[in-house]
Amino acid sequence: MSQDKLTQLIHHPYRAPAGFEAVQPGVHKASTVIFENTAALHKRQWKDKSGYTYGLHGTPTTFTLEERLATLEGGRQTLLTPSGLAAITLVDMALLRTGDEVLIPDNAYGPGKDFARGELAHWGIGHRFYDPMDPASLQAALSERSRLVWLEAAGSVTLEFPDLSGLLQVARQHPGLVVAMDNTWGAGLAFDTFELGVPGPEGSDTRGVDVSIHALTKYPSGGGDVLMGAVTTRNEALHHRLKLTHMRLGLGVGANDAEAILRGLPSMGVRYQAHDAATRRIAQWLQGRPEVSQVLHPALADSPGHAHWAQHCTAAGGLVSMVFDASRHAPERVHAMVDALRLFKIGYSWGGPVSLVVPYELKGMRQMGALAGREGTVVRLAIGLESPDDLIADLTQAFSQL
Ligand SMILES: *Cc1c(COP(=O)(O)O)cnc(C)c1O
Repeated sequence: MSQDKLTQLIHHPYRAPAGFEAVQPGVHKASTVIFENTAALHKRQWKDKSGYTYGLHGTPTTFTLEERLATLEGGRQTLLTPSGLAAITLVDMALLRTGDEVLIPDNAYGPGKDFARGELAHWGIGHRFYDPMDPASLQAALSERSRLVWLEAAGSVTLEFPDLSGLLQVARQHPGLVVAMDNTWGAGLAFDTFELGVPGPEGSDTRGVDVSIHALTKYPSGGGDVLMGAVTTRNEALHHRLKLTHMRLGLGVGANDAEAILRGLPSMGVRYQAHDAATRRIAQWLQGRPEVSQVLHPALADSPGHAHWAQHCTAAGGLVSMVFDASRHAPERVHAMVDALRLFKIGYSWGGPVSLVVPYELKGMRQMGALAGREGTVVRLAIGLESPDDLIADLTQAFSQL
């Protein structure tokens, strides 16, 4: 039967070559996946990755990325989400029901707090903030309604390193409480979030958290050009709860973006080391500058939570923040200093080659802990991959604005 060109263009006989073992995985794109017959259509399962059913449920590209991320974080199962924030909101939506409460550190990633205030509250789900530097504060915030507790190390912007073991010990006294970590800063490299030395709930084999979320947008991407998140677990039942919600919400990721992350992963270890070494150097240099009231970086001995950092970590990533007290530097002067920076670009996020800077007003930023009530400006630096000497020279010239 001779066919029209329109049909031939669609039903062409070409097949990708078997035995083509490239170094990097290819990009497999699909919404539709074709089944050889109706028996296959009825039999194939999307839940256990035993087969491909529909692009939203996974492709060879996304499955490969999920497996590598599970390995990186020391988990067993990973789900990909369109952003790091979507990973946080997926965990909230999958695990919380009307009447429940979620506990969030006061210094957690801001948009995650905002999701609790702006969305969860409308569904009758409560939230409480606790002081991550004080396990007794978590203890006091827990109630019979508590279902989920978030941890984050180090804290967003202010980089306090919490007493992870102490917080876990408190959480584990409450059966049925799920513990989730925002592991973006540690990235699976600074500490093992499933191996923090505190036994998990009965029947589980975690010695740390139950769920780890990771904004792949940061270190795994490494380019400042891809948005993606991951939700990793060690427990099959918990994974399936998350996966059902993930499927119902339709949280797919693009195959080209997944491939971009797969390209970033092999160099992530050395990039993290380079960010870490440069950031420590700059943090030490900042400590010697009279303009700066306080340098926040968990590897510095006098930074909040340094002892907890030292208990779990040797690496410290690429972020350092500096506090300019309002009594010494008006915000306008600090902003002028930020504007005077040349190599540091003003912009959100981190983990890419370009150094970034964002100023935040301290007033109203923290309700608890040592920074609550303090007035001034916190300037967060995300150290990129430029030469640290050049970055220090840039900071030196910009500090003249103060
Ligand atoms: C960036 C970030 C997120 C969110 O990631 P996006 O991909 O930008 O949505 C979540 N948590 C932390 C700690 C982050 O730094």
